[in-house]
Amino acid sequence: MAAAQAARFVRALAEANPAPETELHYTSPYTLLVAVALSAQATDVSVNKATATLFQAADNPAAMVALGEEGVGGHIRRIGLWKAKARNVVRLSQQLLERHGGEVPADRAALEALAGVGRKTANVVLNVAFGEEAMAVDTHIFRLGNRTGLAPGKTPREVEEGLMRRVPPELLRDAHHWLILHGRYICKARLPECWHCVAREHCNYADKVLWPPAAGPRSGPQNGQRNGQRNGG
Ligand code: SF4
Repeated sequence: MAAAQAARFVRALAEANPAPETELHYTSPYTLLVAVALSAQATDVSVNKATATLFQAADNPAAMVALGEEGVGGHIRRIGLWKAKARNVVRLSQQLLERHGGEVPADRAALEALAGVGRKTANVVLNVAFGEEAMAVDTHIFRLGNRTGLAPGKTPREVEEGLMRRVPPELLRDAHHWLILHGRYICKARLPECWHCVAREHCNYADKVLWPPAAGPRSGPQNGQRNGQRNGG
């Protein structure tokens, strides 16, 4: 997709949601970092439930280290991979104390050197906590970048680089939110809801689903239903 078309695509999302925000609950760069670290293979809703009590018990690195793996585990047991995540949260808190005086560094290399923190988590923290133009490519953005032609790529890194090249600079800061929310709620994995997609006219996806599957004879098996099944395969 050419940069001009990509700009129109992202602008359409921007106009529909001028002030996008992350759905994770946090109160500081540290609690954001922990929430994002917990969110891998878990829903934001489940993470928010866990952090509601976890952050009451510990909302800074020293308190988290004092809480310990078992203590952290007690709050996050309903989240996937909770044992490894509890270990990483305590370790990264210890590392923040040892290396950064208990502060979250606004630096990619320093973030990625923390336990359990990869490029995606670092990008979210750099973008949301520090206002940098970073593009965290999660499963939704990866799918959307490829499906729509916005930024095709075989790896999250390729999609990230394609988006960084094509999204207009003034929209880069918020594009991460627009694209995640769009992938999560409209351009869904199994059945993209193209019938009410604000970016539809700028999207290159060939099999757009133009009517809801149960919308009656107009949608029929040739449109929504059939396409929905194919997209799920
Ligand atoms: S038109 Fe359909 S495939 Fe394209 S971005 Fe919108 S929901 Fe996704």
